[in-house]
Formats: sequence, structure tokens, C-alpha cells
Amino acid sequence: KHARIPLMAGNWKSNLNHQEAVVLVQKLAWTLSDKKHDYGKVEVVVVPPFTDLRSVQTLVDGDRLEIKYGAQDVSTHDGGAYTGEISAAMLAKLGCSYVVVGHSERREYHAEADEVVNEKAKKAIAGEMTPIVCVGEGLDVRKEGRHVEHTLAQVDGSLAGIGAEQVGDLVIAYEPVWAIGTGEVATPDDAQEVCAAIRGRIEEVHGEEVAAKVRILYGGSVKAANVAGIMEKADVDGCLVGGASLQADEFGGICRFY
Ligand code: PEP
Repeated sequence: KHARIPLMAGNWKSNLNHQEAVVLVQKLAWTLSDKKHDYGKVEVVVVPPFTDLRSVQTLVDGDRLEIKYGAQDVSTHDGGAYTGEISAAMLAKLGCSYVVVGHSERREYHAEADEVVNEKAKKAIAGEMTPIVCVGEGLDVRKEGRHVEHTLAQVDGSLAGIGAEQVGDLVIAYEPVWAIGTGEVATPDDAQEVCAAIRGRIEEVHGEEVAAKVRILYGGSVKAANVAGIMEKADVDGCLVGGASLQADEFGGICRFY
């Protein structure tokens, strides 16, 4: 039923040092092997803090794991006198396949507007990594019934100036902020409503072929117990998982939803 290869990405946020990271990835690899996971059927990505990436790379390369990894953010700068910033080239050099940009926690706590998210997405693409561009409304907007309109405006702003070919290859994550870390899951129909609207917007701007290719994830309190219902929806191509990605069994269960 899946029109696109599903993707499960685990965003660890600011959790786990590099030693704990190695333990978790190892356990995840074991649990997925126990569950006879087919990586060709569902792509598995972990998104650790920057400081864990080198250790994760060493483990993935050394054990030839099929798990991919990415970063939680990237600098808008290519390098130079920008203390504390991590450039796309640095992440690419560590073997990152993905870069999360515009996570609601970055938008909220670091005042990242769509323009910045857009610059970061472009940096990831220029570094030959796939951006996972996060969008989604807060509770106030949802209560006003403006969630689709709000989210589509974020999609427009975050993807501005990115060519059709690149849009087809990137990943968009719809994460209603009220469902993140709250235990409050959007219903599969809620997820489908907005993911379908996002795909519709991509079709309007870039055409049918690109819209049929772009992967759109849902994120917000996804667990092994609720993932199947979400993944049944036609326009949901995977999940961005926060809390549940810190436990190998739980995240393994999410990846092995089929
Ligand atoms: C997230 O932060 O991307 C997320 C979806 O978090 P959680 O799964 O913990 O709600």
C-alpha cells in the first residue's frame, strides 16, 4: 500500500552522551534483527545530538549497520567565525544522511522563522544531505481551526526557492506542536488531513510527479502501540519520533510496524 518507502526517524533531542548513544544504536540493531526487520521496506534513521555523531558513525560503519543517521540542526553558515555553529560540510563528512530543520523546539526556543529554516534546508541540500523540514501548528491555531492554512504557510516559507527536483527528494514532517511530548496523539485522520494538504500544496507548486515522490512524516507522541493506525493513512509516509526513540524496543516496534 505504501506509495513511497516509509521512513522512521528517531529524534533524540538533547539526550544521551556518546557512550549511551552507542549502546542504544547497538540495541536497536539487535532488536530490529530479532524482529527480522527489512530495511528496504522501512528506512530507519536515528538523529542524535552532534556530539554523538562520530561514535554512531564508527558503530554503523564498523558493524555495517543499515541504520542511517542525521543531525538535529545545521548552521546557516558554511563555516568561519561563527562560534558554536556546525556546518553542513562537517555533518556530511561524518556520514549524516539527514538533517532535521525547523523543529518546533528550534522555532520556539531559538526563534527560528521560516526564512532561517529555508536557509538551513538549502545548506543541507547543498551538502548532499536530505533535510527533514518540520512544520506544524500550536494549540491556539488548532483551536481556531487554522491548522491547515498555518502549516501550508510554513511549508511555502520553508521550501521557498528550492527547485522541484530537490523538493521531490526531501522529507517534510508534520508535527502538531500540541501533540509533541504531551502523550496527546493526533488521530490518524488529523494526521492524514494535514499531510494530504501538504502534498496538495506541493502538487500545486511543483506538479504531480514531485508530489507523488516527496515523503511526508507525522510526528507527535508516536509509539509502537499507535503507529499502525497512523501508517495506514495514504499520505503519511513515516514518523518523526521523539520520546519513544530513546528506547530500543519501543523504536524498534515503531520501525517494525508492518
Ligand atoms: C518530536 O519532537 O519530533 C516528537 C515527535 O516528539 P514526541 O514523539 O516525544 O512527541
